[in-house]
Amino acid sequence: MGQVFNFSAGPAVLPKDVLQQVKEELLDWRGTGKSVMEMSHRSPEFTEIAEQAEADLREILAIPKQYRVLFLPGGATAQFAMVPMNLCPNRQQAAYVNTGLWSKKAIAEAKLFTDVAVVASSEADNFTTIPPMANWEVPGEAAYLHYTANETIGGVEFHYVPDVGAVPLVSDMSSTLLSRPVDIERFGIIYASAQKNLGPSGVTVVIVREDLIDEAAPGTPSMFSYRKHADAHSCLNTPPTFNWYVAGLVFAWIKAHGGLANMAMVNKKKADKLYAAIDDSEFYHNPVDPDCRSWMNIPFRLNDPELESVFLRQAAEQGLTDLKGHRSVGGIRVSCYNAMPETGIDVLVEFMCEFAAQHG
Ligand SMILES: *Cc1c(COP(=O)(O)O)cnc(C)c1O
Repeated sequence: MGQVFNFSAGPAVLPKDVLQQVKEELLDWRGTGKSVMEMSHRSPEFTEIAEQAEADLREILAIPKQYRVLFLPGGATAQFAMVPMNLCPNRQQAAYVNTGLWSKKAIAEAKLFTDVAVVASSEADNFTTIPPMANWEVPGEAAYLHYTANETIGGVEFHYVPDVGAVPLVSDMSSTLLSRPVDIERFGIIYASAQKNLGPSGVTVVIVREDLIDEAAPGTPSMFSYRKHADAHSCLNTPPTFNWYVAGLVFAWIKAHGGLANMAMVNKKKADKLYAAIDDSEFYHNPVDPDCRSWMNIPFRLNDPELESVFLRQAAEQGLTDLKGHRSVGGIRVSCYNAMPETGIDVLVEFMCEFAAQHG
């Protein structure tokens, strides 16, 4: 096969340079005669890898000292439970904003552990927008407010940080963390599973403000306790060492490529090109409110949905793969994380124009 552009929503494309480095170091990490896969998580070699990954992440995101960075298993899905288990030990009320399918999953999971108030929802608008913040009714005594910064399935993204006063802000940033700079200090907790924009699946980054790391609810298993993971420096048990290592290489790659300011510039450019191609055509459409269209996951439909399977097949034949929308919504979805080069979008746009000309 010639050049392939993989638009998968996750596990997603990784920077070629990172894969190349993994290949070169796979059998012998820096003269140790061992693969990273074969190293004890308590060895000096792995400790160096782990600490470097954290240091690079702290540098690119400018994470202040009062935040801990945890590298945990269980995906963002485990965080759906860990957040209420740790922040609502006495089942204090937690506030949630519902902007799509990932928000709904977080809400359903939180309800297992605490009292949930859904303070705003765009479900009646079929999740094509973000409810205006002026209408959110966040109880002052809420333990936290949770929102999904980027809805990976619906393609709806917050382009601002909600202002909720003293209530700690918790955000699922799985498909947007590292796509642009973030003001960490506005948040209590940010979490992201790696397989969208950070690395391979299997490791989840949790950035948590020190004062929120407290005793979890009674009966909480050790593996769900922020306190225990933080005290053990994310080595409470055997962590996903290889995934942590590859994520570290991705952080170093971002650092070497102009940091998050440059990622943001390129990501916006890619998204602008693709939205323009959709909006300028009579053939494709995207239903999302222009104010909250995602830079990372761009869903669209063909005006004639019957043609979508032909579109997907012909695109794949040209090396444009994994464009099928999520099974719950159908259509087409283009994921353009950091590792997707701008040329990938150019080639896709060219294909879209040709396809429209042929079938329009
Ligand atoms: C992918 C994704 C998840 C689920 O992540 P897992 O690692 O599969 O648990 C949760 N939230 C968002 C926004 C996602 O994109």
